[in-house]
Amino acid sequence: MRYLLGILLVLAVAAGIVFVVAGRGAAPSIQILQPSKMIGVDASLDVTVETPKASLSRLDIVLEQNGKTTPLFSLGAPASATLTQETPSRIRISRPIGKRAMPDLQAGSARIVVTAARTTLFGMRTKEASAARDVTARFNPPRVAAVSTHHYVNLGGSEMVVYSVSPPDVQSGVQVGDMIYPGFAASGAGVASDPGLKVAFFALLYDQDLGTPIRLFARDEAGNQAHASFDYKVFSKPFSKGRIDLKDAFLQRVVPEILEHSPELKVAVGPGDSYLPAFLEVNNDLRRLNAEKIVALSQQTAPEILWKGPFLPLGNAQVESKFADHRTYFYQGAEVDQQVHLGFDLAVTQKIPVLAGNDGRVVFADYLGIYGNCVVVDHGMGVQSLYGHLSSIEVKPGDTVKKNQRIARSGMTGLAGGDHLHFSIQLQGHPVNPVEWWDPHWIEDRVTRKLREAGGGALATK
Ligand SMILES: [Zn+2]
Repeated sequence: MRYLLGILLVLAVAAGIVFVVAGRGAAPSIQILQPSKMIGVDASLDVTVETPKASLSRLDIVLEQNGKTTPLFSLGAPASATLTQETPSRIRISRPIGKRAMPDLQAGSARIVVTAARTTLFGMRTKEASAARDVTARFNPPRVAAVSTHHYVNLGGSEMVVYSVSPPDVQSGVQVGDMIYPGFAASGAGVASDPGLKVAFFALLYDQDLGTPIRLFARDEAGNQAHASFDYKVFSKPFSKGRIDLKDAFLQRVVPEILEHSPELKVAVGPGDSYLPAFLEVNNDLRRLNAEKIVALSQQTAPEILWKGPFLPLGNAQVESKFADHRTYFYQGAEVDQQVHLGFDLAVTQKIPVLAGNDGRVVFADYLGIYGNCVVVDHGMGVQSLYGHLSSIEVKPGDTVKKNQRIARSGMTGLAGGDHLHFSIQLQGHPVNPVEWWDPHWIEDRVTRKLREAGGGALATK
């Protein structure tokens, strides 16, 4: 009898231990991936539930709004959403939850609540978890309209538009074909006004079609979007053609230096090998990587106009190559490559001081592939200038520079046939014709006039 009691006691203790241990098992882990903040006409619900080993006994997803609860998914009614088994222990629930899928949804705040439970110890214990997300439902598209008038766009050139957008916190700007130019608060351009007034610089790139549609856009986080046209005229611009004869002496000088500084290129030149294949890789692959880097630098732009007045042309420089010159490369009489030159080449004499084209902040000062030693200055609202082939650099990233301030000395680093300055201007990282930015009349007509008409002060008139 005592023996039997002993066994019962041991069993009871063992059961207790199992009960406690099983109870320690993790509850399901819930992640609401979508929506993040907003629900529009079209929106998606995306939820994952992780339940290690044990199976899910309950999963309910509901939307609460104005005291009403609408079921979005339940294990008992699996047809209401798409259930995907992502891993042996993780499922994903997806379904549309926008106004289109749920016509009863009201504009305003709502809450998504997910509860999940798993059982352990043969169904004796339950582990529960829940997660919630507060969202705002918005179905009206934003409103966007141009404020400035008379927009003229040269092929390869820049333009600026002042526009209003409501509500002011949505994404907006100018769309030129598939290129996006974000707008910035007009207060950053010296126009003290309501937060819905914006300024966007945009371009018709040298290789875009003259008929490329140009329009304003606005898009909120709920995915509601609106477009608006504005008056503009586009003008064709002839670009020159040039021929470059590649000499062995040139290739031997430039290729090894560029390869040394460009570990991203996997090409190697052995003793006695021709430098031509490596040159072609530099002129194509590295040129493309450098262009991507310049686009990435545009992300560091300031939200306000940092510059004043026309950009500084390099005094008495001799122009050796202009914007968008089409170049055909020959080696030993045979055509080997074609590229477009997307800046200005300006030569005076060797190692002349290079001056900042306008006020701004340095965002890059280092070796940059085909441009050799290179400085990029941000002038705000997506406008940046680039100075290439430098022999020495006198500024560092983060430095504030003034127009006319010496930032470097010219040289022939990178892909340069001789000592000269390669100068370019970028909008959102895409090269545009710098001639416009040097021209006081262009600055007045395209920028200053529009800011003044929008109520701006003395900006851009220095
Ligand atoms: Zn150049």
